[in-house]
Amino acid sequence: MLNKIPRLTDDTIDSFKNMDFIDIAINVISKFIGNIISGEKLQQIVNDALNFKVPLEKIANNNYICYLDRGPTCSFKDFGARILARIMEHFLEVDKKKITILTATSGDTGGAVAQAFYKMSRIKVVVLYPKNEISNLQRKQMTTLGENIIAFGIEGKFDDCQKLVKTAFSDKELKHINLSSANSINFGRLVPQTLYYFWSYSRIVSKNNEKVIFSVPSGNFGNLTGGLIAKKMGLPIKRFISAVNENNEFPTFLRTGVYTKVEPSINCISNAMNVGHPSNLARIFDLYGGQIDERGIIQRVPNMEELRNDIISYSISDETTKDAIVNFYNKHKKIIEPHGAVGWAALQIYRNSNPKNNDVKSITFETADPSKFPEEIIKLIGIIPEMPHSLKLIQGKPEFPNPKEISEYTDFKEFLLEEFQD
Ligand SMILES: *Cc1c(COP(=O)(O)O)cnc(C)c1O
Repeated sequence: MLNKIPRLTDDTIDSFKNMDFIDIAINVISKFIGNIISGEKLQQIVNDALNFKVPLEKIANNNYICYLDRGPTCSFKDFGARILARIMEHFLEVDKKKITILTATSGDTGGAVAQAFYKMSRIKVVVLYPKNEISNLQRKQMTTLGENIIAFGIEGKFDDCQKLVKTAFSDKELKHINLSSANSINFGRLVPQTLYYFWSYSRIVSKNNEKVIFSVPSGNFGNLTGGLIAKKMGLPIKRFISAVNENNEFPTFLRTGVYTKVEPSINCISNAMNVGHPSNLARIFDLYGGQIDERGIIQRVPNMEELRNDIISYSISDETTKDAIVNFYNKHKKIIEPHGAVGWAALQIYRNSNPKNNDVKSITFETADPSKFPEEIIKLIGIIPEMPHSLKLIQGKPEFPNPKEISEYTDFKEFLLEEFQD
């Protein structure tokens, strides 16, 4: 798929300046899918999926924040999940088929996927989350739905959840279930994650072909991969700052050329980024002519020079993340949450060490709403972040109990076989 990335002309990218988000989205998505979905249907899908704002704010000097947290689950994962859900449902309707989405979440994916696919008639969702590493609200986004959504809390880490999912996918005895992935490696989620790069770029540039810097809070690297695809499509991007928390496998790899997963992953306050071996690394390697396998062993070295030119990566400690939240509030009287704070902190390091690029505009993505992390924010700045309406609704709902305790793969397999015996 990735070797067929379409290219946009400079004129097309320039024309985005006069379009709204929906029109930019339709333009970009239709480049990928051609006419396999009618224009009218695509319009309907995009309108319905992206029915929320994507605000952009100038914070100071040439530094902007783009807010990707205004969807129903208040995380940037709503973009990918909501488009993917509607496109899948459309094709299943055409083919009169049914499938089961099986996915692991480090916090926000599960909620976004569960909410996006809720009540879709041809799709069931089974989602696994690390019980002790996500917030109450993140859990409730999955466990309060019922209907076609089944959520498992796992004693373990995100990587354990992902292992269970991967094992199920390769299990021949589960073939009849028609399993499909909605993880961030799914191409149907990556394309929608290019859209806000085009959008935010088009809002801030003042001349054609102006280059900008993006600071991307990164965990499983789906967001960054979306940006890299946008760049390949022709968007003038000077550099990506890949901002990670204490799970520093990627910046270490960029620096040394040696890849070592962080195992077990480190538990940081930016919990949706606690990933010790990101699945989208395979995509990124692919984009740069390399290959890395699921175990994290490099089979073909990517073009390191090009990779280092395009991406700089910083690991931000929890201490620095907290300082960033406090300083941001003191300076700008606005609240950022831990994931956005990792991005902002990384941008400051970049700015301090590259003063010659100070005239290049930057966009940092805020990837979640601060009210999803109230304990941390209250502790740091003494303010209770106001909760958006969609989250208030979820918070008040009762939860469905864990369908079954899963301590090893066979428990999970038994459940799937029982649930899906027809
Ligand atoms: C998932 C997530 C991230 C990390 O995005 P990746 O695409 O996995 O790199 C950052 N912030 C929030 C709030 C998230 O939910």
